[in-house]
Amino acid sequence: MIKTLKSFDLKNKRVLIRVDFNVPIENDRVVDDFRIRAVLPTIQFCLKAGAKVILMSHLGRPKGQPNPEKSLIPVGESLADLLEMPIKFSDDCVSEDAHDVTLGLRTGEIHLLENLRFHNGETTNDSEFSTALAKHGQVYINDAFGTAHRSHASNVGVTKHFMHKGMGFLVETELQYLSTAMQNPAKPLTVILGGAKIDTKLDLIHRFIGRADNILIGGGMAFTFLKARGKDVGNSLVDPAMESTAKHIMASARGNTKLIFPKDFVCASSMKDAQHTEIHQAGGIPDDLMGLDIGPETVESFTDIISESGTILWNGPMGVFEVDGFHKGTEQVALRIATATENNATTIIGGGDSAAAIKQFGLMKNVSHVSTGGGASLELLSGNTMPAIYSLEI
Ligand code: AMP
Repeated sequence: MIKTLKSFDLKNKRVLIRVDFNVPIENDRVVDDFRIRAVLPTIQFCLKAGAKVILMSHLGRPKGQPNPEKSLIPVGESLADLLEMPIKFSDDCVSEDAHDVTLGLRTGEIHLLENLRFHNGETTNDSEFSTALAKHGQVYINDAFGTAHRSHASNVGVTKHFMHKGMGFLVETELQYLSTAMQNPAKPLTVILGGAKIDTKLDLIHRFIGRADNILIGGGMAFTFLKARGKDVGNSLVDPAMESTAKHIMASARGNTKLIFPKDFVCASSMKDAQHTEIHQAGGIPDDLMGLDIGPETVESFTDIISESGTILWNGPMGVFEVDGFHKGTEQVALRIATATENNATTIIGGGDSAAAIKQFGLMKNVSHVSTGGGASLELLSGNTMPAIYSLEI
């Protein structure tokens, strides 16, 4: 059993929360605060319950060395603005000073610890380091979904020091949508996959063959499948190492699962040449062109399937959505998913690029759930064990 936040008595307790503040920072300012906002309900609940809150997170990959560019100071500023309250900060998460600040906290105060990955012990799950982290809290809460597929000191090692441990609201919601809702989804269940890489989505494809009614494959990854079927894909992105896997997947499609590929593509000579595009049928892309978005016929067939679905799970853009001119397929899919949500479908957006796309089109609030974790959401949806979630079991 994993305890939820509401089941704890937090009054006057030091609550150590692992959060995921791994956000983009430019010129010492947070440029996208989605992950910070996502954890506010947990922090606010703890404060209201009379807790003293200690927050810990990683930011980027500083490789065990202090690095001012990877400091959480801008995150602390952004958080202070969002909560409209001052936040105490320690520039070393396990120093004596940091522990003193924690011990001196009063009810309703927040102490943010500097980037965990300034210490090597975080990613090596060093027991001395996790013991030092554990000293900050009396209750441990994990609300960092984005790292839940990793075994690190702050999300796995630290947990063995706590009798009182559990998950925050964000992790609870992610589990509800990415795990519980997937066990008995409203049918038809449609999985939409795209993006450039196949290998990161293989487990997901295997899991949903036989379970999903439709698997729509767009984006760059579609070309490896088309090539494996002997189609002419021109100069499009192909992963030759994955061709035999793609063949195997197509051969293993079973049950009622339909694997559906694009019929046509928006093509150009390169990603930079969005001014000169041509539509070509899948299998007929000229040698000097590459497919950079799904074409109009595909948009129509994909969006028809979306409209008829009870549950939609989307991971990976349909084209190079970051470039104006190759964004339309992804935008149309996003819009139709938003409409399906209005019509009571459960719609789940895996993190990473699909989350970025939904944000770009201003549709974050028009879907059932946008995951905060790219890799983590793929792992959970694929049915793989999440060490940080497992460690919360009591
Ligand atoms: P992934 O990390 O595998 O989900 O890939 C995401 C990236 O795939 C995005 O940055 C897209 O620009 C890129 N992408 C999508 N469709 C294509 C395509 N047809 N050709 C090349 N890159 C693509």
